[in-house]
Amino acid sequence: MKISVFGLGYVGCVSAACLAGQGHRVVGVDVNPVKIDLITAGKAPVVEERIGELTAEVVASGALRATTDVAEAVADSEISLVCVGTPSAPNGSLSTVYLERVAEEIGEALAKKSERHTVVFRSTMLPGTCLDLLIPILEKASGRTAGVDFGVAVNPEFLREGTSVKDFFDPPKTVIGEIDEASGDAVAALYEGLPGPVFRVPIPVAEMTKYADNSFHGLKIGFANELGSICRALGLDSHQVIDVFLADTKLNVSPAYLKPGFAFGGSCLPKDLRGLVYAAHRADVSVPILSHVLASNDEHLQRAFDLVARTGKRKVGLFGLSFKPGTDDLRESPLVELAEKLLGKGYDLKIYDANVSLSRLMGANREYIEGRLPHLGQLLAGSVEEVVDHADVLVVGCKDPDVLAALPHGGDRVLVDLVRLPDAATRRLEEGYAGL
Ligand code: NAD
Repeated sequence: MKISVFGLGYVGCVSAACLAGQGHRVVGVDVNPVKIDLITAGKAPVVEERIGELTAEVVASGALRATTDVAEAVADSEISLVCVGTPSAPNGSLSTVYLERVAEEIGEALAKKSERHTVVFRSTMLPGTCLDLLIPILEKASGRTAGVDFGVAVNPEFLREGTSVKDFFDPPKTVIGEIDEASGDAVAALYEGLPGPVFRVPIPVAEMTKYADNSFHGLKIGFANELGSICRALGLDSHQVIDVFLADTKLNVSPAYLKPGFAFGGSCLPKDLRGLVYAAHRADVSVPILSHVLASNDEHLQRAFDLVARTGKRKVGLFGLSFKPGTDDLRESPLVELAEKLLGKGYDLKIYDANVSLSRLMGANREYIEGRLPHLGQLLAGSVEEVVDHADVLVVGCKDPDVLAALPHGGDRVLVDLVRLPDAATRRLEEGYAGL
């Protein structure tokens, strides 16, 4: 198929490269010229396992190209996948400004096209957004009728940053919300041959399924971390407890997101929990459990800070800055928040994160760091050793093998383990070890 992908962020550039790898012809569209230049040069705009090689391969073969020209991309494709960001609005709801802009641009391009085209929204959005907001914009800008003159579908994305290429080819499920059967058929054809169940559902149901997933993931992490904190206070090994819990697959659930560790973050779980709670309150539905998941997460972040504070030492080395391993994404990263808390309290901090340095070198994340985190950007070290040499307290927020290899045992330095190091069970018995 000929596909246009709007928004070449974490979701869009992975979808574009993977679909091109499946034999489709793909054109990516973004407003950010840095991303267009990177893809044109065969480079991925995000750090993610396998995405670099895949992008180089599909750009070289001509299966993937990138442009800022919306009209040309719509004219040259049968189906458009919209993957633009939907960040939190100041009131906790979801900002739809990027979605609205793209819907208008695609609508204008549709006005000039005679063949049927299908517009597929992959961005996460609250139920009602597509039917009540985006379809009217598409119809107004195109002068045409959705479900008659052009197709519309909502196809939420379930990939996880860090393993997104693998997740694309092995999705847990495919959810297709369709305005008519032809629209759903067009989306189903995109993923033909991929495993996992396919659900064809009404559009608002498809929108809501993504919130069911993300709020449950947040809830699981909060539950595991609270359980972990109680275990620690009682002198128990939380992972021994959780391993027994997880072995019971009759009554319990998948182990994903259920290992006690550090706080969650990133561009999805916090903003989607906020958005869902906002939508519930607007609908006069009281949701005490979901309302407190983020508060539980904040509490856990404070615990990590307290571990550092209790050492009484001031020179701190932090390993990891992105919100989880395998990605350079810094949005709502709990490690960024921890670094800011430490900095705010006057700690002498140095940070090392291989993925963040790499993406900064590529120019991909430079804008984000220089624009939003200049105070942390200047603390980034070029090597693991630089951080080890600097610090009296080493805070381990990622399991980078280079970092693990450089961690001292015992001695004067204190190790604050946020990720449950592979040898945590023995380290717990050593002096100078503190774990979450
Ligand atoms: P992102 O911020 O990384 O990327 C969005 C891209 O859209 C940016 O490159 C931006 O320049 C571009 N853009 C903005 N306006 C545009 C326009 N008018 N035309 C073309 N491009 C435009 O976002 P993301 O993390 O890829 O997330 C995209 C959506 O997918 C969000 O709704 C998110 O909630 C959802 N989602 C994200 C993940 C994830 O792991 N990141 C997983 C599943 C779903």
